[in-house]
Amino acid sequence: MVFRNATVLTIDPSLGMIEGGDVLVVDNRIVAVGRKVVVPESAVEIDASGGILMPGMVDTHRHMWQTALRGFGADWTLTNYFMFYYINWGKIFRAEDIYAGNLLAAIEAVDSGVTTTVDWSHGLQTVEYADAALEAVPGRFVLAYGNLLGAPWQWTKAPEFADFIRRRIDGRGDMLRMQLAFDVTGDPAFPEKAAFEVARDFNLPVTTHAGVWGATNDNGIRLMHEHGFMTPSTIYVHATTLSDDSYHRIAATGGHASVSAESEQNAGQGYPPTWMLRRHNIPVSLSMDTSVWWSADLFSAMRATLNADRSREHMEAHKRNETVMLSHLRAEQVVTWATLGGAQALGMDSIIGSITPGKKADLVLIKNDQSPVMFPLLHPYGHVVFQAGRGDVHTVMVDGKVVKHDHHLLDVDLAKARQAVLRTVEYAQAQMGEQAWTQAMNPEKALVELIENPYTYTERERDKAAQKRVEQES
Ligand SMILES: [Zn+2]
Repeated sequence: MVFRNATVLTIDPSLGMIEGGDVLVVDNRIVAVGRKVVVPESAVEIDASGGILMPGMVDTHRHMWQTALRGFGADWTLTNYFMFYYINWGKIFRAEDIYAGNLLAAIEAVDSGVTTTVDWSHGLQTVEYADAALEAVPGRFVLAYGNLLGAPWQWTKAPEFADFIRRRIDGRGDMLRMQLAFDVTGDPAFPEKAAFEVARDFNLPVTTHAGVWGATNDNGIRLMHEHGFMTPSTIYVHATTLSDDSYHRIAATGGHASVSAESEQNAGQGYPPTWMLRRHNIPVSLSMDTSVWWSADLFSAMRATLNADRSREHMEAHKRNETVMLSHLRAEQVVTWATLGGAQALGMDSIIGSITPGKKADLVLIKNDQSPVMFPLLHPYGHVVFQAGRGDVHTVMVDGKVVKHDHHLLDVDLAKARQAVLRTVEYAQAQMGEQAWTQAMNPEKALVELIENPYTYTERERDKAAQKRVEQES
C-alpha cells in the first residue's frame, strides 16, 4: 500500500517534513519514504493529496473503563472524582462494564488517530476484570494493570495475577504490552515497595500518578528514588505539583512524564507542567486521562498543552513586568510529544513513533476535502495542533492494517459497543438510584463572592432601584 502526495510529517529528525511525499508500506512495515517512490505494481494507492500524513498518535494514560460513563463528570473537581470512584461507586462496576468502557474507548482512540493507547486500568477488582479489559480492543494496546479498591502490595502478590501475565501477556509482541499502575502515597513505611519488586521481577514498567495536589507529592518520589525504583521505564502521570528536587530525581533517572493538560487544568492536580519539564529536560508524552470528563483525542491534548505552556510563559513574564517576545514551545514539538514522545515513554521508539523505513506502519492521514479548514496548508505542524480535529482523520493504519478509511471505521461493530455501554449506564443508574445519580453528575456549585464595586451609586444603579420599587408597588 502506498500513500501518495501527502505533506509527510515523519517526526524522524533525519527525514523532517516532506511535501508531496509518498510512504510505501509492505505487510506491516514502512518500507520507503520520499518523493515519487517507486512501488510494486500490486501496491494499492491512497491519494493523500491535500492531506497531512503523520505517525499514529500515542496516548500514555487513559482510563478506558470510565468511557462507559462518557461526559458524566463534566463539572467535577478532583474531589468529586475521588468521591465517585474511590469512595462511593467504583465498587459497583462489573467485569462486563470494564469490557463496555474499554471497547468504546478503543474504537474511539483509533477513530481519532491514536494507534497506541495505555489503558490505565485501575478498575480491575479481579483478574476476571482484566480478562474483560483485553477483549476486542482494536489498536496497539498497553494494559496498565491497576485496582483502585485494593492495595498494590497485595493484589500484585496474588497467584492469579502472575498467572494472568503468563496467560494473557507473555509472548504477545508489540501489539499488547503491560505496565503496573499504582500510586505512591508517601507513607514513610513505603508499603508500595513490594509492588515495585513485583514489577521488577516481571520486568514491567510502573506508571504512577505523581505530583497530584492533595494526593501524591514529593515524598512519594523521594521514597521511590531512595529505594532504587525510579528507572527510565517509569512514567510519571501529571508530574505537576512537584519541587525542583523531585524533577531533578526524575530527570537523573531517565523517567518520562505523561501530561494531560486538559485534565490538569480542569481537575486541579496542578498547573500543566511542560513549562517546568522543558527546563529540567524531562521527556514528555501526552495523554487525555478519562472521557468521563474530557475529550479523548490527542488534537485536544496537543492544543491544551500548547495553550497551557504559552499561557504560563506569559504569566511568569508579566509578573516580572516583562513581555514574551518569542514563543518557547513550538507546534512541532507538541506534535512530536504526541507521537515519538509517547513511543519513547513506552520504550517502543525503535518500533513506532515516527515515519521511518523499517518501523511498524502506524499512520494517520489527516485529510478532509469537504472542510474549509484544510487549506491553505502553510504551517503543517500548526495545522495539526490548531486547525485539524478528529473529524479530519481520513485514514488510520495500525500495524500495516487499515482500520479507518475515507472517514469510516472498518471492521468495527459500533452497535455492539453501543449496546454494551447502554447496559452499563442502565445498570449503574439502577445501582446508584436516581437521586445519587443526579447529584453525582451535578455537584453543588461553589459560591461566587461578588467583589465590591466602588462605582455602585451610578445613575444606572439608581434607575434599577427605582424600577424595582415600581415593580414591588404594582
Ligand atoms: Zn489518571
